[in-house]
Amino acid sequence: PAALTFDKVSMRFPDGTQAIGEVSLTIRQGEFVSIVGPSGCGKSTLLKIASGLFPQTTGTVTVDRSHLGYTFQDATLLPWRKVLGNVELLMELRGYPKEERRRIALEQISLVGLDGFANHYPKRLSGGMRMRASLARSLSLNPTVFMFDEPFGALDEITRERLNDELLSLYMRKGFTGLFITHSISEAVYLSSKVIVMSRRPGTILNVYDIPFGFP
Ligand code: ADP
Ligand code: ADP
Repeated sequence: PAALTFDKVSMRFPDGTQAIGEVSLTIRQGEFVSIVGPSGCGKSTLLKIASGLFPQTTGTVTVDRSHLGYTFQDATLLPWRKVLGNVELLMELRGYPKEERRRIALEQISLVGLDGFANHYPKRLSGGMRMRASLARSLSLNPTVFMFDEPFGALDEITRERLNDELLSLYMRKGFTGLFITHSISEAVYLSSKVIVMSRRPGTILNVYDIPFGFP
């Protein structure tokens, strides 16, 4: 079954910029899909429309947004809250009882490799650790669809490769549907079972490639 469907979706910003031309697209449940393309081709806008952060101008989007995960390039942690408080945030907004959100938060903190850092403030963490905390915060709601807007783009190459591998094992373990923006074709091919290539005409899909998935 489909996890996400775009039917002739277009998007124009109020200043007249046509960010998405006309995109139709189906992503099946459990797929891990990368979106690549040059800067400004509409990758972010596409993901924001899919997640409901931006409204489309025309067309129809079908996706279950009640279990949606989203990470930005920036970890967007609240500086005045410790890692634990940051990871509890989304659950707090949804009214989870205190005990439960603490238990779930500590579980996710452990899952992303931040054992022992629950009581640290973001300022005391490295960039990679902040992204881990941001991932833990999204994971706390147990997303069925998880969107990543160049999550490790600001990190050094070694940290990025490590986090990519850990993201893959999280995906294997949790089985969510993943949408991952990157401008690196090799990263896209490495991570995903499907690569969507966008072009700037503007914001249209040039091609979709199925990548045989398996270990070398
Ligand atoms: P990408 O993620 O591929 O770099 P974006 O989705 O960020 O591309 O941007 C797509 C197009 O929309 C670009 O031409 C960009 O300049 C434009 N755009 C992005 N955000 C806004 C905005 N808030 N207002 C007007 N135009 C925007
Ligand atoms: P809805 O009624 O569906 O919530 P909104 O008009 O409130 O739609 O917009 C949803 C989001 O998209 C908001 O966060 C808004 O700030 C953002 N957005 C829409 N158009 C632009 C734009 N041109 N530049 C920057 N952000 C935009």
